[in-house]
Amino acid sequence: MKKNNFLIGLWLLFIIIAIIFWQAYDNYFYLFNFSYIGTCLTCGIFLYANKVKYARRLVQFAIGLYLLVYLGILSKENMQIEGFWYYLFLGVFEAAVIHYLVAKIIGPLFFGRGWCGYACWTAMILDLLPYKVAKQPRQKIGFIRYITFLGSFFFVGVLFWLQVPHINKIMVWSFLIGNLLYYLIGIVLAYHYQDNRAFCKYICPITVFLKPASYYSLLRVQNDTQKCISCGKCKTVCPMDVDMTDNSRTRTNGTECILCLQCIDHCPPKALHL
Ligand code: SF4
Ligand code: SF4
Ligand code: SF4
Repeated sequence: MKKNNFLIGLWLLFIIIAIIFWQAYDNYFYLFNFSYIGTCLTCGIFLYANKVKYARRLVQFAIGLYLLVYLGILSKENMQIEGFWYYLFLGVFEAAVIHYLVAKIIGPLFFGRGWCGYACWTAMILDLLPYKVAKQPRQKIGFIRYITFLGSFFFVGVLFWLQVPHINKIMVWSFLIGNLLYYLIGIVLAYHYQDNRAFCKYICPITVFLKPASYYSLLRVQNDTQKCISCGKCKTVCPMDVDMTDNSRTRTNGTECILCLQCIDHCPPKALHL
């Protein structure tokens, strides 16, 4: 019952967002966009909770392909971080800016890094690689994310500063080339560090937005310490090296949780829950 209430609440949250943006911009696209994403997400979690093995992967592809192929490639919207800066500098509160606000800046206060577990088109491919859990200790190179974050900001800032013509076309190419680079670097790093999520842990600029908001996330894995038998099984299946047995906000790698629910699934006494 609790699970069903959560799913209905999640679906309603997306429907409310869809209606607000549809009404605010008088544009049916927002109604379709957020309803589609919310429905995919809710169905995926429902299937996963009912032990359908590849449910999360299905959601990743249903949402990831929609954003990458339909919005990014066919509709020529740059949904990457440089697209966010581009629309922000233009003063246009649409497209990538709304996407970032909902999925990556304000949304994570409610649903943490659910984006990273269920919707990201980069991780959709990286999760197919063989290293679902890191085979090596975590590297101390997470500072690279700040470099890529600032790099994206200055890239777009310089285009505006120099008043380069046809920035919109540059944004389309930057989306295509940027995604190819993300996949290439992500795959190389996954094999080098034997960790599918190495790109997410060290390089991805979007985590600069995601991590602080997800620190305060309402939705998070919690441990019923009365039931926990300290077997450590949960940590062996976590792709993001989170110490989910610690209920504090300052838990090790707490802002990395992508809500994949693997730990909950593998906990023998069912001590973990959302
Ligand atoms: S960290 Fe970046 S690449 Fe990884 S899933 Fe999240 S948004 Fe995608
Ligand atoms: S295994 Fe648990 S703690 Fe680790 S990312 Fe998945 S849901 Fe989060
Ligand atoms: S798998 Fe469950 S019982 Fe074992 S340490 Fe983790 S939370 Fe505790």
